[in-house]
Amino acid sequence: MSLKVALVTGASSGIGKATAKLLAKNGYYVFAVARRMEKLKPMSCDQIEPIHLDVVDAEGIRSVVEHIIATKGRIDVLVNNAAYGQLGAIECVSMEAAHQQFEVNVFGYARFIQAVLPHMRYQKSGRIINITSILGRAPIPGFGWYAASKHAVEALSETLRSELMGSGIDVAVIAPGLIKTEFVPKQLALLETIPHPPVYQKLLAGIRILLVDEPRSPGPEMIAHAILEASTARHPPIRHALPISSKMAIMARWLMGPRLFSWAIRYLMKI
Ligand code: NDP
Repeated sequence: MSLKVALVTGASSGIGKATAKLLAKNGYYVFAVARRMEKLKPMSCDQIEPIHLDVVDAEGIRSVVEHIIATKGRIDVLVNNAAYGQLGAIECVSMEAAHQQFEVNVFGYARFIQAVLPHMRYQKSGRIINITSILGRAPIPGFGWYAASKHAVEALSETLRSELMGSGIDVAVIAPGLIKTEFVPKQLALLETIPHPPVYQKLLAGIRILLVDEPRSPGPEMIAHAILEASTARHPPIRHALPISSKMAIMARWLMGPRLFSWAIRYLMKI
């Protein structure tokens, strides 16, 4: 049987790194993509090939996919994971910053999807696993642009899944809650660069209240296992939110409706 081949984006840290390692341990040949080669290089081994790439580089993405097909002849799994979190009040985040959030979190995913699909169609098989967030279904104040990007990925994923039905290609969404990686510290550092007038000071404090539990949250291995399961299961989940608190928050949003949910979140954030 030929080796299964996976492409994992955002593999230099957190969920992507844990996923690349776990897929490799489970018999996949993994192309591990990110910008920081100094973080990727130590992962290099018989089963993991690190590749420098910015997900906004459309030409680079096409070349990487061509390289995968030229060397391995196939691509079985795409894990779209590279993203960052643009925090800040919608009013205060510049349009340039908002645009960049979508360039990476939405169009970055879309570029990889469009690049791998012709090959998966030719093979008549493949898995596309898009990493979204609890905020992809339950938006909260201060996280608006990031939540909007993840909502967009949720919509694209659901649409794509329907469009590909019967092609042998499956699409799954994994929606993590708070996970201990580089993500939250980078989010908070980025927030520092967004000027907010005094009227938003309570909101800024509220964002920190919501993220205060991050050091005690689960590590990325939990999400990596869910991604492995979605890669190998005969019938992958359409959408898997985890840990359980993430599932419950999404259910609460659905049961409460936007008005009551917004009240509850504002109460939690003390705003
Ligand atoms: P990390 O910050 O630890 O990892 C993010 C990865 O994305 C890094 O490898 C980074 O690599 C890469 N990346 C970011 N921007 C680019 C870019 N322009 N081009 C290429 N690579 C890029 O975060 P996580 O592992 O936590 O996040 C992974 C996914 O999980 C994301 O989609 C995130 O939205 C989602 N998520 C995370 C949660 C959490 O609490 N951690 C909660 C909910 C969802 P480099 O900088 O080297 O390019």
